[in-house]
Amino acid sequence: MNDCIFCKIVAKEAPAEIIFETDKTLAFLDINPINYGHTLIIPKEHYREFHEIPDEVSQELIVVISKISRAILESLKPHGYNIFTNNGRFAGQAIMHCHFHIVPRFINDGFKFRPHPKSYRKDEMQLYGNLIREKIKN
Ligand code: AMP
Ligand code: ZN
Repeated sequence: MNDCIFCKIVAKEAPAEIIFETDKTLAFLDINPINYGHTLIIPKEHYREFHEIPDEVSQELIVVISKISRAILESLKPHGYNIFTNNGRFAGQAIMHCHFHIVPRFINDGFKFRPHPKSYRKDEMQLYGNLIREKIKN
């Protein structure tokens, strides 16, 4: 964890273009942006993946994500924006300190998610619904 570059940014031991900060969160510009203004929002405490973050911290994160999204919209006037978080190596997570991306999007900016959508067979959708519903905890 002490090798974590995002922890170092929180500790001000590594440089970053900081956009905003609260008690529990920090927002700064991505060093290799998909588009200029691409911002990362992180919990200040080190959590590896989103599901490990306590609810009171994720609540603060979502409020900050909204605030920064509005600021990006007003300042950069993008045609759209993506909010996403990669969790786990196989989901494309390279920095193992959970972070949300906000990426301003422009017509013909060349960035593409490449989904290969599947279809559910008969009753399969209900089956998957049941599997997930059964594990939802208070
Ligand atoms: P992910 O694939 O979701 O883990 O994305 C990691 C992101 O962190 C990438 O978009 C990198 O460009 C960005 N990144 C890596 N190191 C730094 C850094 N020192 N400051 C700002 N952004 C960084
Ligand atoms: Zn960290």
